Amino acid sequence: QADSAMYQAKASGRNTFHFYDPEMQAALFARAELETGLQRALRNNEFVLYYQPQMDGNNHVIGAEALLRWRLPSGELRLPADFIHTAEETDLIVDIGMWVLETACQQLALWQRADETAHLSLSVNVSARQFVEPDLVAKTEAILRQTGADPRGLKFELTESLVVTDFVQTAQQMKALRKLGISFSLDDFGTGYSSLVCLRNLPIDQLKIDHSFMRGVLTDRNDAAIVRSIIALSGSLGLQVIAEGVETIGQRQFLSDAGCHAYQGFLYERAIAEEHFSRYARQKH
Ligand code: C2E
Ligand code: MG
Ligand code: MG
Ligand code: MG
Repeated sequence: QADSAMYQAKASGRNTFHFYDPEMQAALFARAELETGLQRALRNNEFVLYYQPQMDGNNHVIGAEALLRWRLPSGELRLPADFIHTAEETDLIVDIGMWVLETACQQLALWQRADETAHLSLSVNVSARQFVEPDLVAKTEAILRQTGADPRGLKFELTESLVVTDFVQTAQQMKALRKLGISFSLDDFGTGYSSLVCLRNLPIDQLKIDHSFMRGVLTDRNDAAIVRSIIALSGSLGLQVIAEGVETIGQRQFLSDAGCHAYQGFLYERAIAEEHFSRYARQKH
């Protein structure tokens, strides 16, 4: 193998520089292909938002989280785990994020115009990369104006592990967005290295308990203690709290006993297309 790599390197001439590690080359190629694919997806409108219901203690839908899906021309549906990382690395997340925000606000405005769905809040995942853009606030304002969405129904979810890179600029933009009426949820809470630093430095309204703690909540004393502490912490700080990844009635019971009254997870529904979500929300009104 090494011999053949050497041979190819020689054969390709002295003025060219190539990697001949076949694995690395394959990875670079796959990434470039994904980047081209994402650009095409934006141009050809291949992205869709799915909506996962958020429930209160009476099994009523109180809102939704918008989750990005990529519908390939072949019909296959790709999940964020396959492409968000590359979108962030290539900065395409900035344009994709704007598409997400605009589409979410269009949807929110429609819900707000119908009695049965007027109360719903909509959570949108916003990448830390988007907060580096100095015009995030201006663009958000423009989208709110165009769509007519009432920003009091809009929530931005930030992932704490990504937030920490630039506290000052992130906090400034958050404060400006908050003045517009948007609120903030700290996603995957408990999994970053700096959960408490984020809480101290950023204007947060809600903690979202990471789904990884949910798995052990009934069997693992540490998971149970951590979840109870996060709920207690949100109470002492005057924040809202929601649990994600709720899959069983037992987990839901544990959470409500511990004082958490907002839930999201497969126990209720997965992220589903808008028409299914609207029907679900009207049923569980
Ligand atoms: P997240 O924001 O923490 O979203 C929750 C993820 O958990 C979603 O995966 C959801 O489908 C999944 N989930 C919900 N309920 C359950 C459950 O009961 N059990 C389990 N095991 N999983 C559950 P999804 O849609 O694949 O999204 C993954 C991540 O991709 C999101 O995590 C978020 O960080 C990111 N993402 C999704 N949409 C966007 C977007 O529009 N913009 C950005 N920047 N990131 C996004
Ligand atoms: Mg989220
Ligand atoms: Mg999460
Ligand atoms: Mg996550």
